[in-house]
Amino acid sequence: MVLKNRLKSAQMAALLMLVIIDRTPWRLLATLYVNEKSRSGNRYFLKIKAGTWGACMDSGTFSDLRSVHSRYRTFAREKLRVDLMEREVAATASRQAWSSAGEQGLFELLIPLQRKREDLLNVVTAMEALGEGGEDLGFCLSIVAHAIGCAFVINEAGSGEQKEIFLPGLRSGAAIGACAMTELGSGSDAFSMAATARRDGDDYILDGTKLYVTNGPVADVFVIYARTGLEPGGLGVSAFAIPRSALGLDVEDGSEKLGARTANWGTLRLRGCRLPISCRLGAEGAGGSLFREAMKWERLALTAATVGAMRASLDRCLAFVKGHHRFRDQLSKYQSVLHRIVDMRARFEAGRALLHSVVQGQTGHVLSEEMVSIARLVVAESAFQNGYDEVHLRGAAGIYVNSEANLLLRNALALQSASGTQEIQKALIGSAMGLR
Ligand SMILES: Cc1cc2nc3c(=O)[nH]c(=O)nc-3n(C[C@H](O)[C@H](O)[C@H](O)COP(=O)(O)OP(=O)(O)OC[C@H]3O[C@@H](n4cnc5c(N)ncnc54)[C@H](O)[C@@H]3O)c2cc1C
Repeated sequence: MVLKNRLKSAQMAALLMLVIIDRTPWRLLATLYVNEKSRSGNRYFLKIKAGTWGACMDSGTFSDLRSVHSRYRTFAREKLRVDLMEREVAATASRQAWSSAGEQGLFELLIPLQRKREDLLNVVTAMEALGEGGEDLGFCLSIVAHAIGCAFVINEAGSGEQKEIFLPGLRSGAAIGACAMTELGSGSDAFSMAATARRDGDDYILDGTKLYVTNGPVADVFVIYARTGLEPGGLGVSAFAIPRSALGLDVEDGSEKLGARTANWGTLRLRGCRLPISCRLGAEGAGGSLFREAMKWERLALTAATVGAMRASLDRCLAFVKGHHRFRDQLSKYQSVLHRIVDMRARFEAGRALLHSVVQGQTGHVLSEEMVSIARLVVAESAFQNGYDEVHLRGAAGIYVNSEANLLLRNALALQSASGTQEIQKALIGSAMGLR
């Protein structure tokens, strides 16, 4: 005991020395130090690591991020986690949680009016905290479709008037946003869409059908992509901001999903939907580049939420293998179980480190598509594997429909397709590497 205390004092002294001498090893040591087992019992406990964000910012920003993390993790525990399993089984979104998120300033944080580098850090920190505290990846998908798929694009390319009409409601959470791109005949090859926006005098007339529109059944505002020209790929595509009340726009509820069940989704139909030119976002043909930019932010935000959910799953698995006994011992003492847990931990740490290094590697607020796709690819695969491991560890209890043990597995599957499949991430990375 005495020795242990002395070691602790020595560790603290070394820590202080290094703070003074060199900030880099301090971060490393601080990370190790805060990673120690919590003194409250033997429960493994991962604290937010001092070194993680510190490398790229001053201490003021770092403490701001800690407070963002703590605020939204608490919010998620109190408003999302409490009734999550009931909502998972019923496949319903929580309107109450949505309103509270607005009151907590979440949408303002996710929809900054003038994007700066700090906004990137805020978005990733808040999403990771939501994933960890709430494990409600359906809610995370919903807010990402709202804040990035919809509001981000309006903020990026909208006229002063469009911003004035739509952004206050989207930023407060009073209005819900959605993004409609995917079609039956295009999917991954998004820009080969069939939806058209045909010019007729000072109007456009939109026709087409969009699938899997997250928030669709409840959304007030849609960012919709349609073909306005014959130019190849995204160059012939334009984006439009459309209120739900537009004549010729209808949304039907989509089928129940296996994962991300707490997010609504639906099919959007445009039948001769006449809109004034002022509904177009940016220049004609700018839709492709707007969509690509928004997708980078979406992928990164969803990757952060997934990392948070991996952490919650890992904590639950640890508690289980330490508290569950078979044959002569607790499960964690069996080597194959221990290996499985260590593999889960390694995947979580690697995924989280990669996510943070991608964010830290950005020089401004313009994200590298290649690096975002690498982070998304790795984290989505790791989450799927950890989700499978959690189900496996729980035995038969893992496959109950209402078991929290299969949350991560189901959600990881859904998130492997949202904002582009894993194969599409590889295609983007391959292009950036000059392979295609
Ligand atoms: C939970 C969830 C939420 C979603 N929310 C929205 C939303 O809000 N708005 C919206 O517009 N869309 C949304 N989507 C749709 C999503 O963007 C598409 O599912 C995705 O782009 C893939 O399209 P697809 O489903 O048609 O699959 P397909 O494109 O038909 O792909 C089928 C399979 O073929 C593979 N594949 C396709 N092309 C290639 C290739 N070139 N090389 C190798 N493999 C290939 C794919 O990886 C996949 O495995 C959502 C999807 C999910 C699962």
